[in-house]
Amino acid sequence: MSIDSELRRLAQESATRVQDRAAGLHREYLEVQRHLSELKTNLERDNLAQDRVSNFQLKIAADYQCPTCWVENKTRSPLQPISGEGRRQVLECRLGHVFEMAD
Ligand SMILES: [Zn+2]
Repeated sequence: MSIDSELRRLAQESATRVQDRAAGLHREYLEVQRHLSELKTNLERDNLAQDRVSNFQLKIAADYQCPTCWVENKTRSPLQPISGEGRRQVLECRLGHVFEMAD
């Protein structure tokens, strides 16, 4: 094998290795972008929490409202009384957020 053809073969091998590495880097890049997008969405949602507190309605009609559903997801969810221990009242929303009321 001549020096010319050997160098061409080595160059091709090197190019194949670099392409394989680039494919892996591209997959990693897409995963990081997906994660960044998710972080941005969560950050924007959480930054709105303080605004939601100021708009929280304790009651709608006769029903107390779940503070967690409102602050975290901006959804209204009535609280229903469930049996509590002693005199403490326990309230639960349909998503399972449970609140034990202080005496
Ligand atoms: Zn809830």
